[in-house]
Amino acid sequence: MNRPSAPALAGAATPIVLADPARAPLNVLVVGVGGQGVIMVSKLIAVLAQKQGYEVKQSEVHGMAKRGGAVFSHVRFGQRVWSPTIPKGEVDVLVALEWAEGLRWLGYLKPDTGIFICDTKRIVPPFSCRDRRPGAAMRYVRETQAEVIAHVAEGFAIDATRMAEQLGNDRVANVVLLGALSVALQFPLAEWERVVADFVPKKTVAVNLEAFRQGRQWIERAREGLPHTEAVEARAPTAEADYRVRLEITPAWCKSCDICVKLCPEHCLRLNGERIVELAVPDKCTGCRLCEWLCPDFAIRVHLDRGSGVSAR
Ligand code: SF4
Ligand code: SF4
Repeated sequence: MNRPSAPALAGAATPIVLADPARAPLNVLVVGVGGQGVIMVSKLIAVLAQKQGYEVKQSEVHGMAKRGGAVFSHVRFGQRVWSPTIPKGEVDVLVALEWAEGLRWLGYLKPDTGIFICDTKRIVPPFSCRDRRPGAAMRYVRETQAEVIAHVAEGFAIDATRMAEQLGNDRVANVVLLGALSVALQFPLAEWERVVADFVPKKTVAVNLEAFRQGRQWIERAREGLPHTEAVEARAPTAEADYRVRLEITPAWCKSCDICVKLCPEHCLRLNGERIVELAVPDKCTGCRLCEWLCPDFAIRVHLDRGSGVSAR
């Protein structure tokens, strides 16, 4: 990073207009961790570009995706595309579903015209910290959002996960980011919405389209300098804080994979007689959130409420 810092969490002096993909391939890199929907985002972009008549090449890596590992996917489209991978420094738009993963790939952005769109969600890699109680010191990137945004040609730190939660479905955070991306990629809006509706489960079409519209509107407003919700810098509660851990388990989403049971550092989860996860030893639960982050099916949410004690519902 060698550009001067500026206190902005979104935008650039002049919004960047990407080159016409008919002249040179356009490169989009989508990154995140397992379970966030990185591959869905990249496939949707690929299908959309194909529908516009472009040649598309896509490649993806999702090794340890189910255990919170890194996932990334390259999408290239244009009149003619020779290679499925994007060289370093050639990414037109970097879409990151997790903050640290976004930072990890910043070197791939075009220095002068690359656009960075990043969810501020933080997922601390499993086992990167020994003490996982809320407030304990965590090994995680220290750069502030403003410092990061100041070092890219145009960047947006968007709290997509919180926006999705406010819509009642945190699984649509990736579609909030697609809405944001739609402002940068010049495909017709109706085509975006048609492809989003085709990609998502039928019963979630309405919430996904709303997520898409909110993400799109967020970037439009940020680019115009209009008021928009700015992402709050993530802060853990202090170690001394009197908090109450509450596990919210959605039995219908639990696929009995056993990952959370095996990897809970305190060994306080188990599968019940119906092979659905439950909190067996509430007193030992520290609220570390590993189970929430590792569950590939979003079946566990960990809430840290003010008060004392631990409970599951
Ligand atoms: S809650 Fe999630 S991680 Fe745990 S067993 Fe169910 S599906 Fe697997
Ligand atoms: S149940 Fe979840 S939040 Fe509680 S200690 Fe285990 S992994 Fe951490």
